[in-house]
Amino acid sequence: MKILEVNNLRMYFSTKKGDVKAVEGVSLEIGKGESVGLVGESGCGKTSIGISILKLLPDNGRILDGEILFKGEDLVPKSEDEMRAVRWNGISMIFQAAMNALNPVYKVGDQIVEAIMIHEDVTKEEAHERVARLYELVGMSPERAENFPHEYSGGMKQRAIIAMALACDPDMIIADEPTTALDVIVQDSIIKEIKKIQAKLNMTMMYISHDISVIAETCERIAVMYAGNVVEYADSVTLFASPLHPYTHGLLSSFPSIKGPLKKLTPIPGEPPNLLNPPTGCRFHTRCPYAQRLCKEEVPVFKEFKERHYAACHYAGELSLR
Ligand code: SF4
Repeated sequence: MKILEVNNLRMYFSTKKGDVKAVEGVSLEIGKGESVGLVGESGCGKTSIGISILKLLPDNGRILDGEILFKGEDLVPKSEDEMRAVRWNGISMIFQAAMNALNPVYKVGDQIVEAIMIHEDVTKEEAHERVARLYELVGMSPERAENFPHEYSGGMKQRAIIAMALACDPDMIIADEPTTALDVIVQDSIIKEIKKIQAKLNMTMMYISHDISVIAETCERIAVMYAGNVVEYADSVTLFASPLHPYTHGLLSSFPSIKGPLKKLTPIPGEPPNLLNPPTGCRFHTRCPYAQRLCKEEVPVFKEFKERHYAACHYAGELSLR
């Protein structure tokens, strides 16, 4: 059963220099209980999709077109009041560096209690009991809820933020680079914790990261983004074994694999395009070693090549990616 379906989403930011075309015709579907990773270089539109889904756009951001169906209901036309009910209980989001947003003068547990009481009709005692259960769920002793943020390590703060995201029992969580600010060992333990929670609660997750190795460890399905477009979407085993899009292939070749054999890393040449004025046709054509004239002239259609394996490349399936 699909829990989220994004159809042809377009989202721009207005700036003094013109519109930044941050999300251009993105389509994605996520099944209940699935974990989907959104991966791509910085500035490719990953976070823009996350904040579009929750309609947490800054003043200069606007959705121009498309649908965001959550449990069959389109979120795009919903008012701010209606969206408040969706956030927390429907979809909650763990933001980049959210752990720095904990209020230093309140006990961490009290901050989660407050969030629960704002969104649900429960007593303070019930909210405290729920916080204790959430702390156990994220691998912390419930007594820690009585501490202030400065008494927590970075990893503990991030666990508390995950507990807060789970506080109102949402159907889905969007986690935007939730481990980026942490050292590698703590990152690894948080990723394992997230995976455990996801399996235990059968939680639907969208995990946003620039690091394809983190996404591979966490997610069953991967959507690869480039310059505001999803260029490939498949289950992670298929995507790693037989990518269809040259950009996916380039991304896989430019990241070290922790578990696989040693390989020579090949960075993708060039820079991502400026989204104020993106290239015509396939936005990757300026960096693609397989580009032909057609690539400059026509936008490739994002289509299903094999069951639930989608790509947007004029020559997908015909290239021998090396
Ligand atoms: Fe490369 Fe052309 Fe495919 Fe774009 S459409 S990825 S430029 S081959």
